[in-house]
Amino acid sequence: MRIALIGGGPTAVCVMHSLLRSRSVLGSGEQLDVTVFDPSTDLWCGPNYAPDLSEALTNVHAADMSAQHWNEDHISDWLRKNQVAEPVGSTFVSRPMVGLYFRDAACEAANDMEHFRHVLSAVTSIRMEENQVHVETSAQSYSFDHAVMCLGTNTFADPYQLQGVPGAVVSPYPLSKTVLQTRATDRVAIVGTGLAAIDVVLALKSSGHQGPITMVSRGGLLPPVRRPRLEYQLRHFTVDAVERLAGLEQREPRRRDGPTRGHVQLRDMINLMWREFGEAGASRDARFRNCFPSASVWKGFGTNSIAWMTARSLSLWPSNPRHYIRRRVVPTGAG
Ligand SMILES: Cc1cc2nc3c(=O)[nH]c(=O)nc-3n(C[C@H](O)[C@H](O)[C@H](O)COP(=O)(O)OP(=O)(O)OC[C@H]3O[C@@H](n4cnc5c(N)ncnc54)[C@H](O)[C@@H]3O)c2cc1C
Repeated sequence: MRIALIGGGPTAVCVMHSLLRSRSVLGSGEQLDVTVFDPSTDLWCGPNYAPDLSEALTNVHAADMSAQHWNEDHISDWLRKNQVAEPVGSTFVSRPMVGLYFRDAACEAANDMEHFRHVLSAVTSIRMEENQVHVETSAQSYSFDHAVMCLGTNTFADPYQLQGVPGAVVSPYPLSKTVLQTRATDRVAIVGTGLAAIDVVLALKSSGHQGPITMVSRGGLLPPVRRPRLEYQLRHFTVDAVERLAGLEQREPRRRDGPTRGHVQLRDMINLMWREFGEAGASRDARFRNCFPSASVWKGFGTNSIAWMTARSLSLWPSNPRHYIRRRVVPTGAG
């Protein structure tokens, strides 16, 4: 089976491990032939885990950063082997360190595949033709049975069009470069008080910055980051439930008006999600208000649109390769 991974960041690493785990789904004798397209020099790290100051910490616990979502020991063992102090469930480690982990995890997975290659180019277009996915770079065209989008969602907004303005930094990463653009006594304004803002403050502090730092935001709130780990077992919004909906597993009779085998209707996904929220004791209204605090933002949407956005924003559904490999082209989102 020829599979293209478009983008070679952490998502691609996780997909590679999941593909190996799911060999049995592919059928006996099926060989894994994986090609990763990525033009970046920071292959496997993406921009967020690339080499940088150690002040840039992960915002989830180390164990939750495993490339094998079913096996948190995969990252914990790596951290122990690489002598990172106390690499257990509740530790937050530096993102550059996690980048090194992703790199090693990718090599491990690539070695276990029958065929693997990396194409150091950006993908410029994808098209479906005769049951094949045709992937184009500026230099060449390739054909695959499946393609998985692992492109990430990394763009820093520039609403005030500050790009190129002396003294303005639109994208704060890598932090090591950003702090070099300031002098120790400069007055620094940070627009926004989210995770990146906190990284910048910590980076300035570590560089010995002495000038005043002012953080500006509409809400005036710092993000709810590095919370205690939530132990919650999904009961309804699960991979198995979605496979049943899609008729991929024949445990329940298929509805006459149901979707074509292998497809899932959005309406059914949303219903599953509401059942999960009900099980967890969360009301729909409370959920909306939590995700969309300004009523004017969500009043214009139907409840189903909001439910869908809520599901995406909560990243409730752990990534699972069984879905990636059963479709031709699957968009995936970042966590
Ligand atoms: C500052 C910051 C901190 C974060 N911290 C955490 C954290 O601690 N924990 C966490 O779980 N999440 C965190 N995130 C979320 C983070 O986005 C994801 O964890 C992770 O980086 C997503 O990985 P990815 O592979 O999907 O995307 P990315 O890491 O963005 O990788 C995408 C890859 O696709 C490549 N690419 C893009 N376009 C093309 C193309 N046309 N052709 C070929 N290749 C292409 C890029 O070169 C890149 O290598 C953070 C995000 C930010 C911005």
